[in-house]
Amino acid sequence: MGKRGWTDEASEILCVGEGFRLSDVDPDGHPGYDGEKNNGEDDLAEGMEALSELQERLYAASRTGTATDSILLVLQAMDTAGKGGIVRHVVGGVDPQGVSLAAFKVPTKEEREHDFLWRIEKHLPDPGFIGVFDRSHYEDVLVGKVRELASADEIERRYGAINEFEAQVAASGTRIIKVMLHISPDEQKERLRERLDRPDKHWKYNPGDVDERMLWDDYMAAYQTVFERTSTEAAPWYAVPANRKWYARLAVYELLLAALEDIDPQWPEADFDVEVEKERLAAS
Ligand code: AMP
Ligand code: MG
Repeated sequence: MGKRGWTDEASEILCVGEGFRLSDVDPDGHPGYDGEKNNGEDDLAEGMEALSELQERLYAASRTGTATDSILLVLQAMDTAGKGGIVRHVVGGVDPQGVSLAAFKVPTKEEREHDFLWRIEKHLPDPGFIGVFDRSHYEDVLVGKVRELASADEIERRYGAINEFEAQVAASGTRIIKVMLHISPDEQKERLRERLDRPDKHWKYNPGDVDERMLWDDYMAAYQTVFERTSTEAAPWYAVPANRKWYARLAVYELLLAALEDIDPQWPEADFDVEVEKERLAAS
């Protein structure tokens, strides 16, 4: 029995390894977690303090210490899968000062004139930061492949380029956590319908989402290839069932917590004499 409601480490259960098939993952599931929605929400709320303290240590250690560690959380998913909810409810629980968030949209004209990793590199987290990518360089082998935005040779080249790039990023001190939030097409339909039903959600609706939705199987095949080609030791993929928002949030929380615990950042020591300062302060 693991901590709280977990029967196993989320990082082990959800990690994409040899022989992984996305089609075997049940988007409705809550693997490794022995609880229901109310338990999951309570566990997330209670756990936030631990995440927040570790994040503050990570940040502090990089400011005054010599630590160079950082974290990069890459979020990929079909529309409505809940990337925004992860950002708001999980990452949102820590001090925003130590978070750098980048959302990658359709590349601009300038971005298209460069290699696909050009715009990505600029947003890598500095030491001490938790970087979050809302979409990423993986779009270039997902929508890029499904929509044939580049030649087959170029798409093929990109998997290797991504692995090389991520290995370098990891070697420089960044823990990379790649998460695919996996929803079912029926759940997406329901969520898109809700967006249409609610005027306060219309801004989130994009007619193009329906076009991409019609290519669901092609996207799942492209994700499967991404997993096979780019889930590495330096930068593993995690496939997170996401029909239940509470589970996806709790699972990503666990992945972040495990990475921070593994870094084990320490409060930096004062570079001044604390006793002397206490005396000076008292006398002032
Ligand atoms: P959203 O994240 O839902 O606001 O939408 C961003 C849109 O930008 C999605 O439809 C992505 O597929 C698209 N996008 C992001 N990166 C790329 C890329 N490299 N090439 C083409 N489309 C992209
Ligand atoms: Mg969208």
